[in-house]
Amino acid sequence: MKTIEKYKGFEQGPIRPPSEASSLLIRVTRNCPWNKCIFCPVYKKKKFSVRPVEHIIKDINSVKKHSDEIFHIAGEDKNINRIDLQNYVQSLSNDQMPALNAAWHWFISGTKSIFIQDANSLIIKASDLITILSYIKKSFPFAKRITSYARSHTIARISDEDMKAIVKAGLNRIHIGLESGADEVLSMIKKGADKNTHIKAGKRVIKAGAELSEYIMPGLGGVKLSKIHALETADALNKINPHFIRLRTFAVRNKNELYTAGDFEKCNDVAAVKEILLLIQNLSGITSSIKSDHILNLFQELEGYMPEDKEKMTDILKNFLSMEPKEQMLLQIGKRIGMLGSVIDTNLPLKLADVKKECERLGITEHNVDQFIEEAMSRFV
Ligand code: SF4
Repeated sequence: MKTIEKYKGFEQGPIRPPSEASSLLIRVTRNCPWNKCIFCPVYKKKKFSVRPVEHIIKDINSVKKHSDEIFHIAGEDKNINRIDLQNYVQSLSNDQMPALNAAWHWFISGTKSIFIQDANSLIIKASDLITILSYIKKSFPFAKRITSYARSHTIARISDEDMKAIVKAGLNRIHIGLESGADEVLSMIKKGADKNTHIKAGKRVIKAGAELSEYIMPGLGGVKLSKIHALETADALNKINPHFIRLRTFAVRNKNELYTAGDFEKCNDVAAVKEILLLIQNLSGITSSIKSDHILNLFQELEGYMPEDKEKMTDILKNFLSMEPKEQMLLQIGKRIGMLGSVIDTNLPLKLADVKKECERLGITEHNVDQFIEEAMSRFV
């Protein structure tokens, strides 16, 4: 006999896309139903489950209650501090704090968007998802965006009618981890979706009227598959024409299955930059916005619209590749340890002099820079 799960209070999952940092997080499922992608440590050893709809409704009611109260306390003055909630907070029990914290974070972030968690919310029954989305919209009619992660494999199995109904109910942006358009790479990393599935899913989202954000992972094919990874990914993106192409450079915390399974050789920063250049050079006929909003990316300033900003973006990469190895090293280290921001910075020469001193202090040279970078990046995985 199936046991009925007891409601244990407001829940939030561990991650959301970087662009959803200001969003209210509503947890619809727990963990990842696939959970096999080799590069992804997020939900490993955690069991997937679907939360009962009535529990999600309870979560929404809790946040709404706190959110209404915060708006009431704030009145016209939207600049209140947490301390202004003191009397209200003291009236609450400890188990109400997670929902209050979520409501407060959302309030100070502008209450514009809501992200439904975890890894693949579209796997639940379309009718349940529509119920949840409709309830979110009814509870927070002022929110402009409701978004979710989804797997291409899942979307490819949803009918056009259901997809349209889901979007109509309020889901207006979907984030997909495309990672690569190259079947060799997708199969190596156990993505559970091939290039055609990615294209089919991407087109379905757009046809249904939602915004589509495709995540791609420079460096994922290693040195050996770098070229095909860039070319096939560009080709898949050209066929989908997503609203957003988001870069998230490959990095791992511990050398994982990818390394032990065969002859995987990780791309260093220079190889990854060459790969991104090849990818952008091969994007054509699309109107996507390219975003580089992940902390693992060397050039977070690499942003723009296709096709008008293509040259501006490729110039950033070409400039880096034309530098002497020592100069490249200073730029890499400066960016990775937070001493340098954008390369479009008038104070860059001055800042590079400081980075040089720091490299001397840390004993970093152009010969050991890759090792240092790999260790630094692994801390952000
Ligand atoms: S589908 Fe997403 S969350 Fe699941 S294992 Fe793959 S990358 Fe991780």
